[in-house]
Amino acid sequence: MEQLSNIGVIRDVLTRHGFSFSKALGQNFLVNPTVCPRMAEQGGAAPGVGVLEIGAGVGVLTAELAKRADKVVCVEIDKRLLPVLSETLAEFENIEIVNADVMEVDLKTLIQEKFQGLEVVVCANLPYYITSPILMRLLEQRLPVRSITVMVQKEAAQRICASPGSREVGAVSIAVRYYSQPKVLFQVSRGSFLPAPDVDSTVIRLDVLEHPCVQSDPAAFFKVVRAAFSMRRKTLPNCLAGGLGLSKQQAVELCQKAQVPQNARAEQLSMEQFAALADVLKTGEV
Ligand code: SAM
Repeated sequence: MEQLSNIGVIRDVLTRHGFSFSKALGQNFLVNPTVCPRMAEQGGAAPGVGVLEIGAGVGVLTAELAKRADKVVCVEIDKRLLPVLSETLAEFENIEIVNADVMEVDLKTLIQEKFQGLEVVVCANLPYYITSPILMRLLEQRLPVRSITVMVQKEAAQRICASPGSREVGAVSIAVRYYSQPKVLFQVSRGSFLPAPDVDSTVIRLDVLEHPCVQSDPAAFFKVVRAAFSMRRKTLPNCLAGGLGLSKQQAVELCQKAQVPQNARAEQLSMEQFAALADVLKTGEV
């Protein structure tokens, strides 16, 4: 459909289908015609590439992805959007909409079945209520994808892309960096959406690493990371003791054996220091 990102066209098609926005599903649809082409380009949609999208809305981004890539598969939870998408995306033969919850679908199997022979990227304007769970699901499953380009709330983007050692860093930033190299691409103002949300947005790209950035047992690594960030104002040994079920003395020994200063806070630790703590924990030395 021509001019799919035009606000008048979107309002018209949604009204004809009797569609009402669901806040609970994070339905803020893009109505700024410049955003989706930029996202598709910078997200790597190109010949020889298959794109996995999450949340089609009326299909504005889906269409831009399909113009550039060989194939687009979009997981959309809201079945009320299916008749809308049949109309708006009618001209494309390389789009498949899967009506499912992205948190429940077996993404590895989906990718294997739908994208044989293609390099795969993820590109999506994420529903903001589950940004981190979706990102963690995409990364932790070690899906065969080259990159993950997503639009998220501006504040979430700052947390996700924060470097270890910086004030904004949290468990999600460490997890993202364990699996990928994050990069901020561009900002999108709240006025670019229908309905307009209360916050601005940022498009980020996570370039997925072939191997995690530090060599460490993932289960032990993430246990340490979760424990270290469990209580913001407490010192590291206190957090580790509480989060790992250790005595204070054992937590102090854990820091000493890993050569991590006891007075450090989680946000000051490097990836290597988290890995050192995980290694000591894993070998049962405390
Ligand atoms: N891509 C469209 C755009 O940019 O205008 C829509 C983006 S809107 C922010 C998020 C979309 O994700 C909505 O279409 C919503 O129905 C869908 N969605 C919400 N939760 C979902 C879930 N758990 N699984 C799959 N899709 C979901």
